[in-house]
Amino acid sequence: MYIPTIGLEIHAELKTKTKMFCSCKNVPDEEQPNVNVCPICLGHPGTLPVINREAVKLMVKIGLALQGTIADYSQFDRKSYFYPDLPKGYQISQYEHPIVEKGFLRDTRITRIHLEEDAGRLSHADDRSLVDFNRAGLPLMELVTEPDIHNAEEAVSFARGLQEILRYLGASDADMEKGQMRIEANISIAPEGAGKLGTKVEVKNINSFKAVHDAIEFEIGRQSKLLDEGKKVVQETRGWDDMRNVTVSQRIKEEANDYRYFPEPDLPPMNLLSGPDTFDLKKIKSEIPELPDEKRNRFGVEYGLGKDIVETLVAEKELADWFEEAASELKEKTEKSDVQLLANYLTSDLKGLMKTRSVSIDEIKIKPEHLAHLVFLIQNGKLTSRLAKGMLAKMFETGDDPESLAKSEGMETLSDEGELQKIVGEVIAKNEKSVADYKKGKQNALQFLVGQVMAKTKGKAEPGLTKKILEAELNR
Ligand code: ZN
Ligand code: MN
Repeated sequence: MYIPTIGLEIHAELKTKTKMFCSCKNVPDEEQPNVNVCPICLGHPGTLPVINREAVKLMVKIGLALQGTIADYSQFDRKSYFYPDLPKGYQISQYEHPIVEKGFLRDTRITRIHLEEDAGRLSHADDRSLVDFNRAGLPLMELVTEPDIHNAEEAVSFARGLQEILRYLGASDADMEKGQMRIEANISIAPEGAGKLGTKVEVKNINSFKAVHDAIEFEIGRQSKLLDEGKKVVQETRGWDDMRNVTVSQRIKEEANDYRYFPEPDLPPMNLLSGPDTFDLKKIKSEIPELPDEKRNRFGVEYGLGKDIVETLVAEKELADWFEEAASELKEKTEKSDVQLLANYLTSDLKGLMKTRSVSIDEIKIKPEHLAHLVFLIQNGKLTSRLAKGMLAKMFETGDDPESLAKSEGMETLSDEGELQKIVGEVIAKNEKSVADYKKGKQNALQFLVGQVMAKTKGKAEPGLTKKILEAELNR
């Protein structure tokens, strides 16, 4: 029996207006190559970097949200290595004095979070390789955890939790598919009770949460097999192969001193809590919104919603905010507001419409009060759920209020007793067999007759009233 020990290193691009050390625009998904570049981020000799204070402030915010300690003294260091997309021959990073030390997320301790610059992007085509430097010099945070994680599920939970927090803070879009968030896992196993950790293997090139899970499971299996056979685990860097679902050896792991870190001579050290460049931690703390895990708890308690619906709402801050606005509108209309029904329409029907049109909640024409109004009408039997779906689609197209749409589109519910009575009479006259069945005690027959009234009214008949009138007529 082996005990796995896992630590994560997570990089995320910060969402600032400009790059980390120059005034080039920070547009991570710019399609035209090499447009957001200048002599500084292209590494021309004689150019001087300038620290982007917006990026440092985001780091402070992230650190506070993750309950870390903000360092008073922090500095940048050069990390020397050559790579074709790193034109300076070194990366400006932080070594001994990161901006954030310690911290906590779910059950995992955070060791540090430091700030550095991203490299460019290489693409390989046929017989040549191309370099795009739009990404070179983007602010990049690197978070390192303690080896507190013991299985793939915990690792995924940490990474998902971090992604959510970064998005809630507006610090990063952290889209893994776009490479805005990148995960590396350090994995070792040791026999139970060994008293010390095994040899660790670093797995890179993990580009999705599924890959985080699968890469860890694969490594635990691979290393267990080696130890079972009396072999040794080699300390090395391996890459995750998404197609084959295996890790592949890339290189024998370098030590920190291979990078020849030394203080960046072109940048001044930072005093974050004292001196002229100090940050007001109280103020930054007050700008941190309610974080996802707190929101999860509150939504469960305050609205009595089920776990799955809460997950869907909280996963996206904008969606959660939209829901709360609609819920408060509904509460204003009626004391016995059906928030569950509201949440259902939002997370299934409305989200479905958004998906087919690929629009986000910020871009839709429907306003929270409109959805609240729709639910209010359904709750009060003024609108059948059958009509409501069509109505919602119309609202989605036009941005109109349901009541005015009902009039202009002829989608009003039929609740005129006299008119319903007439239609019920016609249905009874035409369906002698079902009427006889009902009188013999077959409840299905009643459902059938209600269905006939619905068909005749194109689904507009108010269901409760229809049933009441039918029963009264049949029992005469
Ligand atoms: Zn630049
Ligand atoms: Mn790094």
